[in-house]
Amino acid sequence: MKDTFVTLDQASEIARAYPTPFYLYDEAGIRRTARALKRAFSWNKGFKEYFAVKATPNPFILQILQQEGCGVDCSSETELMLAKAVGYADREIMFSSNETPDEEFVRAGNMGAIINLDDLTLIDAMERACGVPEIVSCRYNPGGDFAIGNDIMDMPKEAKYGMTRQQLTQAYRILMEKGAKHFGLHAFLASNTLTNAYYPTLARILFDVPVELQRETGAHIAFINLSGGVGIPYRPEDPDNDIEAIGEGVRQAYEEVLVPAGMGDVAIFTELGRFMLGPHGVLITRAIREKHTYKEYIGADACACNLMRPAMYGAYHHITVLGKENKPADHVYDVVGGLCENNDKFAIDRPMPKVDMGDLLYIHDAGAHGFSMGYNYNGKLRSAELLLHEDGSVQLIRRAETPADYFATFDFAGLHFD
Ligand SMILES: *Cc1c(COP(=O)(O)O)cnc(C)c1O
Repeated sequence: MKDTFVTLDQASEIARAYPTPFYLYDEAGIRRTARALKRAFSWNKGFKEYFAVKATPNPFILQILQQEGCGVDCSSETELMLAKAVGYADREIMFSSNETPDEEFVRAGNMGAIINLDDLTLIDAMERACGVPEIVSCRYNPGGDFAIGNDIMDMPKEAKYGMTRQQLTQAYRILMEKGAKHFGLHAFLASNTLTNAYYPTLARILFDVPVELQRETGAHIAFINLSGGVGIPYRPEDPDNDIEAIGEGVRQAYEEVLVPAGMGDVAIFTELGRFMLGPHGVLITRAIREKHTYKEYIGADACACNLMRPAMYGAYHHITVLGKENKPADHVYDVVGGLCENNDKFAIDRPMPKVDMGDLLYIHDAGAHGFSMGYNYNGKLRSAELLLHEDGSVQLIRRAETPADYFATFDFAGLHFD
C-alpha cells in the first residue's frame, strides 16, 4: 500500500471547487524532501540543488524551492523566462541544454546563468551569442555502458548528450584561451535509479576526471554537477532511496579522490527533478465510465494527455481508489483514458478494489514529468494544477485550459467558444 497525502473527504471537497481531473501538489512534502537533500549534502560547503524545471515547470512550485535554497536547471528559453519571473538570477540558474539555438545562449548569457555546454562545437556559438563567461560547465559522456556492479543501468554510448573524455580536455583548453576562469563538470548517466549506489558510483567516475583535467590544463574546477537521475519508488514494493546514505556515499568518494588531489573546495551540485517533486504531486481523476468486454475497463476523465508516462514508457503509476484504501484488491481492471489510442491506459490488469462510477482515483507519483509532458491530442485540454499548502488550504496555481486556449494560436473567422 502507498500512502496518500489527502483523504477522500479532502479530495471530494477540492473536487467540488475544481472539477476533475486535476494535479495536486503537497507543499509540506516538497519542503521535507528539499530539506532532507540539503542535510544529506551539508558536509559540502558549496552544495546546491538546481531543480530541473522541466519536471514541474510551475512558478509557484519554483518559488517554494527557492525558499528552500534551491537553484534551477533550465533547458530552454521559456524555462529561463520562468526562472527569471520567479526571481532566480545569475548563478542560481544552470542552463543545461542541447542543440542550443543562438537565442537561448543570448538569454542565458544576459541572465548570468551558468552555461553547461553539451558539446565542443557549441563554444563558438556561445561566444558569438553571449561571449565566454568566467564560469562555464561542460557535460561529460564517458561512453560505454554504465554499470553498478553487474547491473547495466544505462548505455551512455547510445546517448546524444555530452562530450568524450578527449573533447573535455580540448573544450577546457579552448575555453581557457577565450577567458573562462572557473569550470564545472556535469554528467547524467542513468535515469530513475533505485539504488543508493547511483550517485556515489557516478561520483567516483566523475571525480577522477576533474583531477586529471586540472593536471592537464591547469583549469580551476569550481563544481561537479551530479545532475539528475535519483529515482523514486513508483511501485509499492520498490525500495526507497535513502538520500542520507547517498550523500554519505558521495562524501566518501569526495574524501578519497578530490581531497587528496588538493580539490577539497569543489562544490557539489545536483539537478534532481523526479526525486524532488515526483512523490509530492498526484493526478486526481474520476471514474466516469465502465465497460465489460474481453476485459474490465474503468474509464477515467483524465487521459494520457494529462499523464503520458504510462503510454510512453509503460511506466507504472500506483492508483489508490480514495476511500477504499482498506478494501481488498479483488477486481482486475484496465484503467483507461478517452484518447483514440490504445496505449491510453493508466493501468493494465491492475488488481484494485471494486471501482464505482464517481470514485476518485488518486494516481501517485505524478509530481515530476507528469503535467509537464502533457499535450493536446484529440483536442483534450490540460488540467488545472493545485497546491495543498501546509495549513491545509488549497490554491489554484494553474487554471485548466479552455477551448479558447486550444484555439488561441490561430485566428479563424466564425470560431466561437460558447
Ligand atoms: C531531466 C534532467 C534532469 C532531471 O532528471 P530527473 O530524472 O528528473 O532527476 C537533470 N538534469 C538534466 C540535464 C536533465 O535533462
